[in-house]
Amino acid sequence: PPKTAANDGATPVMAQFLDAKAGHPDALLFFRMGDFYELFFEDAEKAAAALGLTLTKRGKHLGEDIPMAGVPVHAMEGYLARLIRQGFKVAVCEQVEDPAEARKRGSKAVVRREVVRVVTPGTLTEDSLLDARGANRLAAVAIVRGEAAVAVVELSSAEVETVACAPEDLAAALAAFRPSEVLAAERLFADTHARAALDASGAVAQAMAQALAEPTGAKGRVERLYGVRALDGFGAFTPAEIAALGLVAAYLETTQAGRLPPLKAPRRLGQTGFLAIDPATRASLEIDRTQRGEREGSLLACLDRTVTSGGARALAERVARPLTDPDRINARLDAVQWFLERRELRRDVRELLRGSADLARAATRLSLGRGGPRDLAAVRASLTTAEGLAARMLEAGEPLAGPPAEIARALKALTPTADTGGLLAELNEGLVEGPPHLARDGGFVLPGYRPELDAARALRDDSRKVVAELEARAVAEAGVPFKIRHNAVLGYFLETTAKAAEPLMRPKDGLGPDSPFIHRQTLANQVRFTTVELSELDARISQAGHRALAVEAEVFETWRRRVEALAEPLGAVAEALAALDAHAALAEWAEEVGAVRPTVDDTTCFFVESGRHPVVEAAVKAEGLPYTPNPCRLDGSGEGCARLAIVTGPNMAGKSTFLRQNALLVILAQAGAFVPASSMRLGVVDRLFSRVGAGDDLARGRSTFMMEMVETAAILTQATDRSFVVLDEIGRGTATYDGLAIAWAVAEHLHETSRARTLFATHYHELADLEGRLDHVCNLSMRAQEWNGELVFLHEARPGAADRSYGVQVARLAGVPGAVVARAREVLERLEGQATAKARLDDLPLFAVAEPPSPPPPSSALDDAMRAIEPDDLTPREALEALYRLKGLA
Ligand code: ADP
Repeated sequence: PPKTAANDGATPVMAQFLDAKAGHPDALLFFRMGDFYELFFEDAEKAAAALGLTLTKRGKHLGEDIPMAGVPVHAMEGYLARLIRQGFKVAVCEQVEDPAEARKRGSKAVVRREVVRVVTPGTLTEDSLLDARGANRLAAVAIVRGEAAVAVVELSSAEVETVACAPEDLAAALAAFRPSEVLAAERLFADTHARAALDASGAVAQAMAQALAEPTGAKGRVERLYGVRALDGFGAFTPAEIAALGLVAAYLETTQAGRLPPLKAPRRLGQTGFLAIDPATRASLEIDRTQRGEREGSLLACLDRTVTSGGARALAERVARPLTDPDRINARLDAVQWFLERRELRRDVRELLRGSADLARAATRLSLGRGGPRDLAAVRASLTTAEGLAARMLEAGEPLAGPPAEIARALKALTPTADTGGLLAELNEGLVEGPPHLARDGGFVLPGYRPELDAARALRDDSRKVVAELEARAVAEAGVPFKIRHNAVLGYFLETTAKAAEPLMRPKDGLGPDSPFIHRQTLANQVRFTTVELSELDARISQAGHRALAVEAEVFETWRRRVEALAEPLGAVAEALAALDAHAALAEWAEEVGAVRPTVDDTTCFFVESGRHPVVEAAVKAEGLPYTPNPCRLDGSGEGCARLAIVTGPNMAGKSTFLRQNALLVILAQAGAFVPASSMRLGVVDRLFSRVGAGDDLARGRSTFMMEMVETAAILTQATDRSFVVLDEIGRGTATYDGLAIAWAVAEHLHETSRARTLFATHYHELADLEGRLDHVCNLSMRAQEWNGELVFLHEARPGAADRSYGVQVARLAGVPGAVVARAREVLERLEGQATAKARLDDLPLFAVAEPPSPPPPSSALDDAMRAIEPDDLTPREALEALYRLKGLA
């Protein structure tokens, strides 16, 4: 890269470029030159490759050609989007003065340029670059003296939040925010926990200088960011939280080049306030995206009935970070229920909400100086909606005597104040309908709002009319078919063909001293003239045009400042609109799918009657098939029902659906949503773990089995007696006995030590024995039946262990050739006859059970075979076969 020391030999513009570039070595520098952003040197080469631009040259530097590539200013957003998506940062260097100003300093003076922002994934504000239905967050992680923390800022809502946690919990804490960019001091990239958190977050990670994460310096930076003397006023932050906030502050200082929206005071999120969901669980449950990374098919997509982008973001937030405080959960449930009971009001509220716009993002852009008239229109539309909503809800009258707290709070924020009402009145008075994107093009202020603007426009328009009339007069006068044209260089001129212009071009009777026509330009086929009158009109029109634009720019700036000054109340309006949308949408969904209000309390129960998996149910119903609801009863206390259920059943019987379904019900209930069940009672869960379905991670070079053990270890160390665990087929990646042994020990540990509510699906039918050996274990099986040689899945969870796994039948369904299936049956019969694994397990000493139980009765192969028979499930032919088998064993 070019050295600053060598700048002496550079042209003034190149020197300016090298200077700007020196401040942003890791970003591509977009260097504004007139109507283009130009890139030079390596930046040009990288951008040309990434965007498919033509690489050209411009002058020389130190004797070598300077590679150059450019993008037109008007098309910049599209190029930015592509670069950001490919992981680049872009520093935007603008001309910060009018070229005319520069010229005043001398003919060789260069226009002043400055880097006005650095565009990175976490700090985007442009609508076209953002997902309207998801938050866009910048996060930082820090670990100080063995304590970890996450700090997060979202520019569009101006929210700043921190979470302090143990290093092991960093991944879960970070994943809950779904950031698009994460900052960490260089050192942390070598730390196991931090590295795992960064990798699992799926965000672009930026390494920051170690010094920026030192708590003392960081504290000063955060205080400067907020313009306060001491942070203590905001709460007691841990050194790690301060270090993380410091990284965010440092990054915002450089990327926003000093221009920041008024950020809200940092809020400490108690580590205990939210249901902890680690990244693997998030992925397994497909909460806001599927394992393939798509929104479609996720729980959120299935649930989302919001009608505004702000509401969609609020809902996504709830589902991503369910609560743990029963009071707060019930407050949300109250609001959902309130809307569920008021169908007509709900319909009206949703209809009104549809008329609002993305207030949070529009207001941020205006505050940052990146907004335009269209953002003002968004502010107006949203304030209008707020007024309408407040009126409609108040008019609902009597039932509103005591709306639930969440509704009352939103309503209060929506009620217009002198400030917001005044802003709305002014925008109504002055802003046109459907204004343009950019303020500099003008045309967004209504007639009658500013007399001097009306005067300038009238002058411009009248003069244009005179110009139009002038064409006819000139044609009559000169006898030449003139047309009036306009371009940026000549302004207005009269144009005709070279042939028609011939008489005018003759010095004597053409362009003589008395001729009104003054020659301006000759092109290949055209000749252009002007007249004194036309050039006077032209000057007047362009002056009036400039004047009009200046007045509009001033009006825009006044409105922009009002919005900036009202950032706080406008933020509150945006939040209230989003909250109402989310509540009403959850009510809408509950009505559609027949969801009920869960009872959420401080117990350790998990009682579900007729529960359904919302996503699978929708998919199954879309194919015209019925969904089989299933109950599930667990209690951590072990009183009345089991703490841990062993779930067996053949492949395809619905085990993983059943497991995920119950985990999703926990998320929904604690998010404050109704649940697809006929009833549910839930003692709040502190941590949710789900390991269902193969989580192959071959890309990172770990075997499936290794991954599974790493994840299992995390559960065993972190699950508590308030946790909820769903585990599928632990140990399947290794030899049968190894796998069985591990599964057995894991189940015992969860039951005895963690004491978490657990659903444990397994292929090892031997685990069914745990029911008799441990106090709080029960067996459930997903039932399937063979019917005339066909395997029928009932998707029904029944008490008791599955008698057999029907693997052979499933193989047949999957199209394995008949001869292979027949041979497999034969082998199976032999193996079943021996029942070896089970025989050995019967000798296993019991784990952590205080009282020695009475020794199990000696069991023979014959007993086992007898026990394995479910007479009701057998076809006549099978019954006969079983009889022969028993006879053989006797
Ligand atoms: P397993 O984990 O036992 O192999 P799955 O849970 O993957 O089985 O279920 C297999 C398929 O069965 C699912 O894709 C779904 O279509 C269907 N299914 C599962 N549970 C139900 C249910 N309760 N009602 C209706 N269909 C179901």
